Amino acid sequence: MKILVTGGAGYIGSHTCVELLERGYEITVVDDLSNSNKKAIERVKQITGKDFTFHEVNICDKAKLDEAFEVEKPDAVIHFAGLKAVGESVEKPVEYYDNNIGGTLNLIRSMREHGVFNIIFSSSATVYGDPAEIPISENCPKGMCTNPYGWTKWMIEQILTDTAKADERWKVILLRYFNPIGAHESGLIGEDPKGIPNNLVPYIAQVAVGRREALGVFGNDYDTPDGTCIRDYIHVCDLARGHVLALDHINKMTGSDVFNLGSGRGYSVMEVFHAFEKACGKTLKFEYKPRRAGDIPVCYCDPAKAKKVLGFETQFDINRMCADSWNWQSKNPYGYNECEQ
Ligand code: NAD
Ligand code: UDP
Repeated sequence: MKILVTGGAGYIGSHTCVELLERGYEITVVDDLSNSNKKAIERVKQITGKDFTFHEVNICDKAKLDEAFEVEKPDAVIHFAGLKAVGESVEKPVEYYDNNIGGTLNLIRSMREHGVFNIIFSSSATVYGDPAEIPISENCPKGMCTNPYGWTKWMIEQILTDTAKADERWKVILLRYFNPIGAHESGLIGEDPKGIPNNLVPYIAQVAVGRREALGVFGNDYDTPDGTCIRDYIHVCDLARGHVLALDHINKMTGSDVFNLGSGRGYSVMEVFHAFEKACGKTLKFEYKPRRAGDIPVCYCDPAKAKKVLGFETQFDINRMCADSWNWQSKNPYGYNECEQ
């Protein structure tokens, strides 16, 4: 089977490409490199010793996207391409709706015109909003999102579900990721945020490597054991494996289905911070800051459905996640670049 991976140069995409190649899938990557570096593609080839084609294409450009489909003739698509910075989406809603939703509509049209009807989509726990239940199962109703990024995931889920409902040739799997962290054990690929990291672990990693002074902990007055927010962290390689299991499943199913991908266990901000200190062998600085707008206190998943239907279970614990993040960050202090950009 040949898989067209949109956003395959990005953080989760590059790790999934490794997993796919190691499992014997043929791949091709479509990415406009708007939030990634071509070096990631080279490193995926280095890790796996396998070659594949890369199309530097914006999925909003239908003609170029069509060209990729014509040349590659994929059997399925894994769709990672999208903008993902929550704060930026509040500043630039039109750009986010355009890129994420417009890009996905283009992709759906291109797929249909080229007879490709299998798609796995990167959704997010953010679609649950302030969740009605903890742990969050897939039956938990979708909620109100607090930012345009979240709404793009919410709406794309709906668009893909409706597409599958209208035409039985389509098979759609929506994967709702919890909090991916960590990196491939080689330290050759990992998360490389542009500018100041928005997310917890990339920020701590940059403190550990000396690029930032101290972690700001957003709120220590939540109703949780240590007062800081709790999230369900998942190793990016576990997450990548989840996509391969979803691909195995897509041939056996009809219509659309949705799965949480998380560990089912929550860790507080301070627990992650201390696990990272242990991983890098350093005492790091932090300071308490006010709560961040839109944060919910506790978020972790019920992973039972992914286990039952896909056979998916996470393998790596928080210590391993932090150790692998540190391995990547210490070997690549400026990510794929040589110096601060
Ligand atoms: P990432 O930014 O590293 O990867 C996304 C990739 O898509 C980048 O390489 C970027 O260049 C590319 N891209 C963006 N717009 C494009 C376009 N119009 N055409 C072609 N390529 C385009 O992000 P990631 O963390 O790897 O996330 C992958 C997907 O998973 C995204 O859709 C994201 O919203 C979703 N997701 C991420 C998280 C997370 O915490 N990282 C959580 C839930 C869901
Ligand atoms: N967080 C923090 N400092 C940071 C970044 C994040 O205290 O510099 C907290 C944030 O408030 C949240 C948790 O860490 O409680 C996870 O945040 P992240 O942005 O990584 O994931 P998300 O909010 O999307 O679950």
